[in-house]
Amino acid sequence: MPTYHYRCKNCEYDFTEQQSFSDDPITVCPKCGEEQVHKVYSSVPVKFKGHGFYRTDRGGSSSSSEK
Ligand SMILES: [Zn+2]
Repeated sequence: MPTYHYRCKNCEYDFTEQQSFSDDPITVCPKCGEEQVHKVYSSVPVKFKGHGFYRTDRGGSSSSSEK
């Protein structure tokens, strides 16, 4: 199971969570309860086999180019 790194923009709480690919990403901070959590893509290099890099274009109200 892959581990995802999240950070809360509100309180800057930093945490990791083991989730399967089918799980929804975490959006609510377990510390302050604000919906300010975003995924951090950093340290762990993840290799995807083949094409079909998965699209995370849901929600869609924010701009499409995400770092
Ligand atoms: Zn927080």
